[in-house]
Amino acid sequence: MSDDCQALAGTGVTPRAGVGTVVWYAPDTELPEPPEGGVDADEERQRFADARAAAKTELERERDRVAESVGEEEAAVFDAHVQFVDDSQIEAAVHDAVDDGLPAPNAVHEAFADHIERFEGMDGRMAERADDLRDVRDRLVRLLTDGERVDLASLPEGSVVLAERLTPSDTAQLDPERVAGFATATGGRTSHAAIFARSLALPAVVGVGDALPDVPEGADVLVDGDEGELVVSPTDEERERAAAEDLAEVRPDPVSTADGREIEVAANVGRPAEVEPAADRGADGIGLYRTEFLFLDRESPPGEDVQHEAYVEALDAFPDGRVVVRTLDIGGDKRIPYLDLPEEENPFLGERGIRRSLDPDADLFETQLRALLRAAADGDGDLAVMFPLVATVEELEAALANVNEVAAALDDEGVAHARPELGVMIETPSAVFVADALAARVDFLSIGTNDLAQYVMAAARENDRVADLHDPLHPGVLRAIRRTVEAGHEGDAWVGMCGEMAGDPDVTALLVGLGLDELSMSAVTVPDVKANVATADTDVAAGLAETALAADTRTDVLDNLSDRS
Ligand code: PEP
Ligand code: MG
Repeated sequence: MSDDCQALAGTGVTPRAGVGTVVWYAPDTELPEPPEGGVDADEERQRFADARAAAKTELERERDRVAESVGEEEAAVFDAHVQFVDDSQIEAAVHDAVDDGLPAPNAVHEAFADHIERFEGMDGRMAERADDLRDVRDRLVRLLTDGERVDLASLPEGSVVLAERLTPSDTAQLDPERVAGFATATGGRTSHAAIFARSLALPAVVGVGDALPDVPEGADVLVDGDEGELVVSPTDEERERAAAEDLAEVRPDPVSTADGREIEVAANVGRPAEVEPAADRGADGIGLYRTEFLFLDRESPPGEDVQHEAYVEALDAFPDGRVVVRTLDIGGDKRIPYLDLPEEENPFLGERGIRRSLDPDADLFETQLRALLRAAADGDGDLAVMFPLVATVEELEAALANVNEVAAALDDEGVAHARPELGVMIETPSAVFVADALAARVDFLSIGTNDLAQYVMAAARENDRVADLHDPLHPGVLRAIRRTVEAGHEGDAWVGMCGEMAGDPDVTALLVGLGLDELSMSAVTVPDVKANVATADTDVAAGLAETALAADTRTDVLDNLSDRS
């Protein structure tokens, strides 16, 4: 490191690195001093009405632009913003504040404060709705104060955007052709800004904290989304490393290990707009389509035809590949406002995944299965459907019975449909122990290491305080993975992995050695994992796995892995 080189730690969002020049972005929300003699309430109400109309015009324009450049699903967030602009409770609160003597911009600020605070107090993804509300508030205040701000859509080439926080509409304006990356002081991996960054494959680090504002405008920085670091004044070596990372070769064809064992390397997606980029990164197919994203940012569940279209689109993008769609997996940290999920003391041990699909969301499950069975007949690629958070054989049998009932109903109606491959996610210790019985009833198992590690280690996946425990490299989790692979193969089921572990290029050889047939990950890491599959030798990898499985501690596992790399 050079003398002035400094690394600030945060959370890496997209495992890519970019180097560029800092442009600070601060939405201008400076509020006027309320005049001593009060305001003309009618006039301020009219200004507020005009600002709302202007905000809606802007939002519609941005919506259309994002729909074209990123995708319809991403664009839907702007519909949610229009709803906030139209919200009658907020309108009433602004009018009250104006009647109390505040100018319109100050009244808007005050009216949004309670709502923002309420969302901030919630868990997981709901907390991130607070960002949407701030976004709408700042837009209205800017329109009311003629505020100026950096035009994110036309930044100079090679800019790295730094900001306290970026809202969804801010992030959607960034042009990956011109912007080298961004870093924010606040935010987590699942914020909208982070999700957009991943879809755009934009290097990004969030949650850098209080040190970020010390980085000056115009500084040279490296955004390392892999290490989760913002490096100020990077050395030449670091720049070269960043440049080399971007050169990962995209392999459009399936890969085999050096000794010829084919391993499918697929992508995890959540929205239709992520499908095409996944194919561009050389994914063989989709190994996990998280359909809950199709349900977010809407006011009601997507109907059968909307879902059918999304699934067919994915199948058509991989005419020679497989698309694994997971049925709706809500509960835990995934809440969908209009679905009225119960307040549970420990939602991760409550009504999640297949438990809800069997009851109380049986109607949604039926609609989704109809859309899927129809898509299996209509799309080009091969469809596979899997069920999340299965813990018992009874749950699987009930889900399979539902598939049969839906197929029979479509038959009766004369609607074209086909039977997809069927599988189970292995995410609970119980599923590991009955994996033989599960495998006997399905075509495949897919290991969800994010949840499996959480439940095997009793360490919540979103709790930083137990992050070291929530690691699939603990021998307990590795042995659960091995047991699942063996049980699957004995039952003639193929076994894949779609948790974050599958996308870590440092453990590709270990996973090959554990016997996995398929690995599915964020599209950005597909080229790196394919490269590591191609150089792996199955005998060497099997030895690596045996050593890891025999280890008593995670430290031993890590030591052994670094010895071999
Ligand atoms: C997992 O649990 O590993 C998984 C892939 O599912 P999700 O992260 O969506 O819970
Ligand atoms: Mg899971």
